[in-house]
Amino acid sequence: MKSTEKLLVKSTSGIRGLVGRGLEPALATEYAAAFGTLLGGGKVVVGRDTRPSGSMFVRAVTSGLVSVGVDVIDIGIVPTPTVEIAIKQLKARGGICITASHNPAEWNALKFFNNQGEFITPKQYRQLDKMFNSKAAGFKPHNKLGSVISRPGWAAEHVRKTLAVKIIKRAAIRKRKFRVVVDAVNGAGSEALPLLLDKLGAKVIKINCNSDGNFTRGPEPVAKNLSRLIGVVKKHKADLGMACDPDADRLALVDEKGRAIGEELTLAMAVAAVLSAKPGPTVINLSTSKVTHDVAESLGSKVHYSKVGESNVVEMMRARRGVIGGEGNGGVIYPAFHAGRDALIAAALVLSHLAASGRTLSEQVETFPKYYNIKTKGQLKSNFASKLKQFERRAHNLVGKFKVDRRDGLRFDFEQGWLQIRSSNTEPIYRLIVETNSKALTSRLSRQVKQFFT
Ligand code: MG
Repeated sequence: MKSTEKLLVKSTSGIRGLVGRGLEPALATEYAAAFGTLLGGGKVVVGRDTRPSGSMFVRAVTSGLVSVGVDVIDIGIVPTPTVEIAIKQLKARGGICITASHNPAEWNALKFFNNQGEFITPKQYRQLDKMFNSKAAGFKPHNKLGSVISRPGWAAEHVRKTLAVKIIKRAAIRKRKFRVVVDAVNGAGSEALPLLLDKLGAKVIKINCNSDGNFTRGPEPVAKNLSRLIGVVKKHKADLGMACDPDADRLALVDEKGRAIGEELTLAMAVAAVLSAKPGPTVINLSTSKVTHDVAESLGSKVHYSKVGESNVVEMMRARRGVIGGEGNGGVIYPAFHAGRDALIAAALVLSHLAASGRTLSEQVETFPKYYNIKTKGQLKSNFASKLKQFERRAHNLVGKFKVDRRDGLRFDFEQGWLQIRSSNTEPIYRLIVETNSKALTSRLSRQVKQFFT
């Protein structure tokens, strides 16, 4: 990408852009004013992750909200799920979290939430975009502006509420005296995740927990970014390592042998933890590993697939009465607590499951079916839609007989596994996932499909 190129991506997942090159404060103010106008006043919660541009955007968003008569409750630096919890508890009309999630520091974004403390639905997003484009925000005169108050302490409140979740086996976790290394990428989980683990009786070793927004590793908690965490887990002979992304809605694990086991298995562990105590349907997105599907089915659960994106998963959870689910990128959703991805509940469920089984993390991983998964991406070209059609017509040459799902790009399920290719919701790229029971087949398919779309 050229350094002068502007980048702004709008979707249900938020308004995401390069700071100063696509996403500017004026734009944030206008979006916030449009959002506040749709809400028609009342209270709105504003939180942010630790990236340095965050304080600027908090001010911009606050101005926009106040200008249309909305009262802002600024809860400071918190995980994204904490904003969701605060909205419900404070009976606010909505919320805005300023975070570009797993994107690098040069990005930022606005994530919008409704009065349920959930991502706005695709329909609510269309209304928001329409209001923004119409420039019809309901600006108020000087004596009808909203107010602003600061309400710190929500990370601790999030921890307190997590500990009170019934399904978490607190006594059993405490008995295991887990040693856990936490790597919060100096993001919004820096305070909350270590605090939760400490309250669960774990010995916590912290790296990258300074809340200063200095992303000293790639912010996505994928294996290639976790080398320091792996080293510290080994050095301290810890039971596991936990890494989150900058807004702490995704959690990845490192086992006691110092292996990054992949984000996918966080969800598989959480699903196992919940279903063994509370049977019911599971809802995962179409990009999620078959491990989670198999674990859920083995525990008698019916598995439903949704399109990618938190709001899509949550919508289907509601329709199918899902008791557990989420996204395979480490985003666990336990709706009995709250309907959003949450690294804290994910951490508590993982420890709960290990405590109940008496296994180490590597022993637990051994119990899961083995699949070989390659996630890759490429530049999105303008002919992507027609290439997808061509690809579907030729796919039998690659994978034999298959079942197709066209709800989110293309997903093929075939005898040895599955693959999905779709355009990203948050970046101008396509994402390709191939997962099969053979390492050679996975890498061959991944290469061939990529070639076709290049
Ligand atoms: Mg995130």
